[in-house]
Amino acid sequence: MPLKKELFNLPDGVIYLDGNSLGPLPKAAKNRVASMMQDEWGTQLIKGWNSAGWMAQPSRVGDAVGRLIGAPSGTTVMGDTLSVKVFQALAAALKMRPDRKVILSDSGNFPTDLYMAQGLIQMLGSGYELRVVAPEAVADTIDDSIAAVMLTQVDYRTGRMHDMKTLTELAHSGGAVMIWDLAHSAGAVPVDVAGCGCEFAVGCTYKYLNGGPGAPAFIYARQDLADSVEPALAGWLGHDAPFAFDLDYRPAPGIERMRVGTPPVIQLTALEAALEVWEAVDMSEIRAASVALQEAFIHEVEARVPALTLASPRNSAERGSQVSFRFEHGYAAMQALIARGVIGDFRAPDIMRFGFTPLYIDKGDVLAAVDHIETVMRDRLWDDPAFMTRQRVT
Ligand SMILES: *Cc1c(COP(=O)(O)O)cnc(C)c1O
Repeated sequence: MPLKKELFNLPDGVIYLDGNSLGPLPKAAKNRVASMMQDEWGTQLIKGWNSAGWMAQPSRVGDAVGRLIGAPSGTTVMGDTLSVKVFQALAAALKMRPDRKVILSDSGNFPTDLYMAQGLIQMLGSGYELRVVAPEAVADTIDDSIAAVMLTQVDYRTGRMHDMKTLTELAHSGGAVMIWDLAHSAGAVPVDVAGCGCEFAVGCTYKYLNGGPGAPAFIYARQDLADSVEPALAGWLGHDAPFAFDLDYRPAPGIERMRVGTPPVIQLTALEAALEVWEAVDMSEIRAASVALQEAFIHEVEARVPALTLASPRNSAERGSQVSFRFEHGYAAMQALIARGVIGDFRAPDIMRFGFTPLYIDKGDVLAAVDHIETVMRDRLWDDPAFMTRQRVT
């Protein structure tokens, strides 16, 4: 796969293994945002909503994201944060199964997904329940009491990956609505939301899609449902005719009804430019290159750094695009690595996480990173008070 390193703003001396958490700055995004500020906002002022196409941006960018996750045009829209999109999908799913009260999820899910479910059912009252089981137990827990199965395909801590097609089929055979969170999948692994048949998919765009800190999230609804989904967040820009200023809500046709309020145009502009990098990219090539990098990394770390234990599945088919190792002093070790220019991150209690993004990481980077890991561990460079104080973001 041809590297696209030259398309990114990567500081000298840095090996960036954290694109699974915040993708680096695409040069095109930087330039596009600068020109948008000057030529659109700065010049066209409020006319930009029409003349610069700002109002159509959430669906236009939604289609660009859709191409990377197997969503047909017109089924994906951008806006808000992933937490909000999880809430929207869940609320819509529960409406579709009024005689059922259980949301099923797993303990590998990202906390905000579970919190949003908890908040929603608290608001609904009347017997709703969030059932959280081990990831391996999901398949056997699906029964005809479940209204919605809500899962994140790739576990943020370990990279363990669910089989979307099999679990969606199981959910459907139990009569449940299937919601997939693709936060660690979009731009990382080939995804086919339409092919797997799930009702909803959601995800963020600041991780593998490089949309920048705070980039808006996406929501997909299956084509046959888009006109019947009942939006719980009935915002004016999801209305059929926002500028009629009706006093009563009437949802827009199709996926536009999942819009809420005014779109974040500057962030969407950055994201739209960032997505151009993907136009000439084949996700199966990205996947193959990612697996090759991960396998090389695991092999070298296990051979040279025995203190680290693999926390990710060993079988690459069951792993997303990250590799995690456990180490008791993982936080300090990661800080020591970051000080040497190898940027990964840490997830409590003891996980050192490394993301593999073949657009801008190659085998040479992987081998150089392992050299640093070996040095940090062999010389106990992590054992330094400077690396022990936890910062707000780990
Ligand atoms: C990163 C991530 C989030 C973050 O949600 P925001 O609302 O964008 O902060 C949510 N869920 C999962 C599964 C994630 O990986």
